[in-house]
Amino acid sequence: MLLSTDVSLPNDVQPEFPDCCVVCSCKPDSCAELYVHSRSSFLVLLLPVLMFSGWSRIKVPVCKRCRGRFFLQRWGRSLVAWATIAVVIWGVSLLIPHWEATDKAMVILGAGMMVALQYVLLEGLLPRKFDLSASSTKTTYEFKSSSAAFEFYLVNRNNHPDADIRIISGD
Ligand SMILES: [Zn+2]
Repeated sequence: MLLSTDVSLPNDVQPEFPDCCVVCSCKPDSCAELYVHSRSSFLVLLLPVLMFSGWSRIKVPVCKRCRGRFFLQRWGRSLVAWATIAVVIWGVSLLIPHWEATDKAMVILGAGMMVALQYVLLEGLLPRKFDLSASSTKTTYEFKSSSAAFEFYLVNRNNHPDADIRIISGD
């Protein structure tokens, strides 16, 4: 079940946002610069040097009073999730110091996956106001508000009538 409404644009289309803050929908008096990576996570895992290329910078309208909340929501959850995974793995490794290395590795992996699953469920059930993700061909703009997503879709559809722009409704 998708609870955000997503709009995907080809990577060669420069996105244009309606004149509204992506957090509170009021007229924005500032913006935030976000960086999104378009390389496959699997390929980056195999060839970490790919991490140094494939980044795009996207300017998003955010009003000054929402900037702090916006960045806290964007990075706070990820930081808490990774910190929790690290603490769980550390705690499990302290609890089972004399186990075989392979048993230990399996328990640590299982604990890490449980925490990661909780993080994924949280992201699905309580989506961020706005988020971005990218692949090698398209960038996906994820809106909690379906009306904000639809406005964003219309602006970009009007400016690029021939581009492969899609809206994926979460409703
Ligand atoms: Zn705002």
